[in-house]
Amino acid sequence: MRTLNQKIQWAIDLMREFEPDNGYVLAFSGGKDSVVLYHLACLAGVKFQAVYMPIEVEPPENYTFIKQHFPDVVWHYPARSFWQVMLKAKRLPDHRFRWCTTHFKLRPMRRLYRNRIRLVGERAEESKARASRPAVYHTANGISVRPLLWFTTDDIIAVTEREGLPVNPAYGGDLRRRMSCVTCVFQRKTTLLYSMDRWGDLFTDMAYMVVFYLYPHRADYLKARGYLTPTEYMSAYYLKLTPPRWARFKATHDLDADPIVLRVRQFIRRAQNGHQNPLEKPRFGNLQRL
Ligand code: SF4
Repeated sequence: MRTLNQKIQWAIDLMREFEPDNGYVLAFSGGKDSVVLYHLACLAGVKFQAVYMPIEVEPPENYTFIKQHFPDVVWHYPARSFWQVMLKAKRLPDHRFRWCTTHFKLRPMRRLYRNRIRLVGERAEESKARASRPAVYHTANGISVRPLLWFTTDDIIAVTEREGLPVNPAYGGDLRRRMSCVTCVFQRKTTLLYSMDRWGDLFTDMAYMVVFYLYPHRADYLKARGYLTPTEYMSAYYLKLTPPRWARFKATHDLDADPIVLRVRQFIRRAQNGHQNPLEKPRFGNLQRL
């Protein structure tokens, strides 16, 4: 078992060992792991360029945090908005068709930084898949180096506090929370409820897309699968319930008491009552481009 200082030294040695002549590309998100990764890359003294690929559905605080604390990060704005891509995909992103990651993260990284060696903030603790890969590995996107592989959440918090690193306000003071896109379906239930309460406007954008585009487009198919209304479709989506499980859930639960269903109903109502079409909203809340 390594101590925190040993893990830091291991990360620094790894980055130095694999440093390419043209420097690393550091995949930066504004989350706690990428802030620590950025800091350790500075301590290692390796050459790197941090890059960030924003999506409209991230916490708005993330944009200002990165601009304020990491002004040298290069931003790659997507050509199309999250809502435009959703319209084309004709469905919400899920584990079968995770079009958001492919379109907004993987493809641009591959296109812009083909054959570059990347520093990524993945940690073994996060998932079995991440734990199963070595610290340096080849992907379709090139070579990835993972200096934080052995860091636990406690380690990340300890480094953040000890080194006085900036903390993204999107965490709401709780660094144990995982930060992702606000509307992401892969969040834990407690984080999802937190996101729904804090960034309801983005969920209302999502509800708008469901009510006016996605559900009408596949209404017959969705009804046949038991999602009888846009509210049912969006609730089952966030409860991660397949058609048979959604049917069981409806039969055995009081929908009027379920916190996710109640919030979805509210978003749908707002979407139907004068909410602005997200396809017509200014990109990234009128954020001035650097
Ligand atoms: S965090 Fe969730 S919504 Fe955002 S790109 Fe990843 S999978 Fe998609």
